[in-house]
Amino acid sequence: MHFTRLRLLGFKSFVDPTELTIAPGLTGVIGPNGCGKSNLLEALRWVMGETRASVMRGDGMEDVIFAGSGKRPARNHAEVTLTLDNRDRTAPAGFNEADTLEVVRRITRDAGSAYRANGKEARARDVQMLFADASTGAQSPSLVRQGQISELINAKPRARRRVLEEAAGISGLYQRRHEAELK
Ligand code: ATP
Ligand code: MG
Repeated sequence: MHFTRLRLLGFKSFVDPTELTIAPGLTGVIGPNGCGKSNLLEALRWVMGETRASVMRGDGMEDVIFAGSGKRPARNHAEVTLTLDNRDRTAPAGFNEADTLEVVRRITRDAGSAYRANGKEARARDVQMLFADASTGAQSPSLVRQGQISELINAKPRARRRVLEEAAGISGLYQRRHEAELK
């Protein structure tokens, strides 16, 4: 499974529909300060199920919705679509019925977030788990935020272990065990 396309609509500074093709190999994003490079990575993290507004550099999750500019009014919703190539059929059960997997997250002011996977309503937890198993999740160390390296160096052992577990692709298992223990 690998990413092939990211589509944004009303997400942060990307008020107009914006589509990004993600080719195999290394992808670089370049542009002047403030053009939206970090917003793109945040969109990727968000569609994979990020729940912490602080990681999105906002006070609340609705801060990801285009807030308006001098000439353009604010939007009422934001939507991010991530397309994955699943021809190797490595997506987990429930997401594995087609060669392409399309995950959509949409947020509406005062109504929160909703997810869809290949057109069907999906639960946040299942989307988070899908990417946790694929080791690319919202919490994944493959997305390195500014300041994260020093956070990691200063982290307590338990927090550092979580990063290693995510990198090893076992954090989905860890979460399932935790949920089983609560039952
Ligand atoms: P740098 O090179 O400085 O890291 P960058 O390319 O990473 O810059 P971003 O931080 O992604 O830039 O984009 C910042 C821009 O996004 C700012 O102009 C900010 O006003 C705008 N922005 C962030 N959230 C919203 C929002 N909800 N609505 C409209 N614009 C937003
Ligand atoms: Mg930036």
